Amino acid sequence: MITVESLIKNRQLHADQAPRVTELWAEIRHWKRERNAFVPAHNYQVPEVQAIADYIGDSFELAVKARDFKSDVVVFCGVRFMAEGCYTLAPETPVYLPSLDALCSLAEVDEDEVAERQEFLRSLGRNFSTMTYVNTYASVKALSDACCTSSNAATIAAKLGVPDLLFVPDQNLAYQVALKTRRMYLPPPDPHAFHPKDYWERIEPLLREGERQGLVGNVFAWEGACHVHHQMTEQDILALRAQDPETQIVVHSEVLPALQRLADAVLSTSQMIKYVEAHPAQKKFAILTECGLVVRMELEHPEKQFYKTCRLCQYMKATDLEKVLSTLRDLPEEKRITVPESVRIGAERAMRRMIELGS
Ligand code: SF4
Repeated sequence: MITVESLIKNRQLHADQAPRVTELWAEIRHWKRERNAFVPAHNYQVPEVQAIADYIGDSFELAVKARDFKSDVVVFCGVRFMAEGCYTLAPETPVYLPSLDALCSLAEVDEDEVAERQEFLRSLGRNFSTMTYVNTYASVKALSDACCTSSNAATIAAKLGVPDLLFVPDQNLAYQVALKTRRMYLPPPDPHAFHPKDYWERIEPLLREGERQGLVGNVFAWEGACHVHHQMTEQDILALRAQDPETQIVVHSEVLPALQRLADAVLSTSQMIKYVEAHPAQKKFAILTECGLVVRMELEHPEKQFYKTCRLCQYMKATDLEKVLSTLRDLPEEKRITVPESVRIGAERAMRRMIELGS
C-alpha cells in the first residue's frame, strides 16, 4: 500500500508536501463516493495518483476492467487513447480525462496512411490482417482486424489465421511479434515517407528469405515508436552488465530490437511486475521502461534493489492529484472523452476481438 510515509522514505515526496497530499487523497475519496466513480490508473502514473486508484494495471487489464465496471462515471488516470478505449467498450458511462495534455507520441498515427498501406498490401495480393496496438486512437483501431497490447500481441498474432500482419504502430513490438510467431520482420519505411516502389525494393529480399527459411509469414512493421522506450540504448544495458553482472535486466517490448536481444527478459509492464514477484531470491533488477513502474516496484519491494535506467513520459506525468480532484468534483465537459459512434463501433469490434483472443 502506498502511504505518505513510504513516499517520503523513497524520496517521491517532500515532507512539507505530505499534509496537502493527505488532504487531496481525502477529498478525492469523498468525491469518488459522491459520484459513484471508478478511477483506474495506468502503471506509469505518479505514485500519489496510483494510491487513490480503484484499479492499477497495463492497458490490456484496464481495457478489460473498463468493459466490466459498474459505476456512474469514470475518471481515467492515464492518457487519451486509454480513456477513448474505455468509452469505446462502455459508452453508456461518461469518461473523463483529468489532463488534456495526456497524449501519446506512439498514438499519433494518420488513419489515411494506414488505409493507404492496407491498399498497397492488397495490391500485392498479400493475405494479411491488420493488428493495432491499443496505443492508438479509435479512428485507427476502427481500421483493424484486432487490437493487442504488449502482453498479448504474440498470442493474438498466432490466432488470427493469416500468414501476414500489418502491425501498427510500434515497430519494436512488431519485431517481438515476428520473433515469437516465426514470421519475418519487415522494417518500416521512414515516418511519412512511404513510397511503394522504394519500400518494395527494401522488403522483397526479406520476404524471399522468409520463404526460404519456411517461416509462417511476415510482419509489415509500421513506422511508429514510443519516444520513451525508443531512446533507450544498447549502452544502457552494456553499462549495467559491466557494473553488476548479477542484475537481471528486463526490458519492455517497445525498446529497440538490439536491446531486446541483450536483455534477460522482454515483457509488458504487468508481466514485469509478475516477473519480479516470481523471482524472490533475485535481489537486483534493472527494469527498462517508464519510470513510474519502477517507482511502484521500489515501494512494493523495499528488500530489492532497482537500477534506475528508466525514462519519464511527460504525457503520463500530466495527471496529478489536483487535476484528478477538480475533474471528479466538477466533471468539466471539455474533459469528457467520446468518439463518433461510427468510429466507436469499428474500434469496439477490434478491441473485443483482442479480449476474446488474448484472454
Ligand atoms: S510511455 Fe510511450 S506509449 Fe506510453 S503514453 Fe508515453 S509515449 Fe505513449
